[in-house]
Amino acid sequence: MDWKRLKNIQRHRNNIEHYYSNLSKQAARRLISDSFIIIRDFISDHLNKDPMKLLGDEAWAVLIKISEVYEKEKKECLAAIKTLKYFSDAILDAIEDYSCTKCGTDLIMPQKKNMDAIEANFECRECGKVLLYEDIIKPAISNYYSHAVYFSHTDGDDLPITDCPKCDGIYLYNEGVCSSCGYEAEHRCQRCSSTIMPDELSTEPFCEYCAYVMSKDD
Ligand SMILES: [Zn+2]
Ligand SMILES: [Zn+2]
Ligand SMILES: [Zn+2]
Repeated sequence: MDWKRLKNIQRHRNNIEHYYSNLSKQAARRLISDSFIIIRDFISDHLNKDPMKLLGDEAWAVLIKISEVYEKEKKECLAAIKTLKYFSDAILDAIEDYSCTKCGTDLIMPQKKNMDAIEANFECRECGKVLLYEDIIKPAISNYYSHAVYFSHTDGDDLPITDCPKCDGIYLYNEGVCSSCGYEAEHRCQRCSSTIMPDELSTEPFCEYCAYVMSKDD
């Protein structure tokens, strides 16, 4: 099963069932498109049946049409997003997943192509809300790394993200760069040569221990 698609659908299902939803038309299209893909794959992969026959020609045609409209728009957005230059590929991946905070649509497109992402304005294709890089980068990164952060707490994996020592942005530890300001921190302690871990990056270029010892020497 494609759990990522399913999760997005579940998030909005309750609201719709209670006749209340703030989803835009495009976002609703995406829900139908996602549902369609899950149903189609489930019927063919797990029931070993032909989805078109099982659902009937009429329903099939409607689902295909809505799905195609959404997928085409999404493709155009992704192509435009890919022309920008990012501090790291992980940031590109995170922005590809980002949804508009106003209407929930994930059809976000930069207003100009082929430039530094940090200088770009992004526009929601549904509600027209214009977002700066600094508006979207923190929620986009938090969302993108939410699973990895969860597993770092439950399984003791190293934290993939931490506070940037130079700005209030999110620092991508494995990529070695801040997603907001592009700062590349020192990961090796200048005094004892040990690795500076994500949770002690605020004392870089020294590890927490050395920073403590040095502060006592003063
Ligand atoms: Zn929007
Ligand atoms: Zn920073
Ligand atoms: Zn040290």
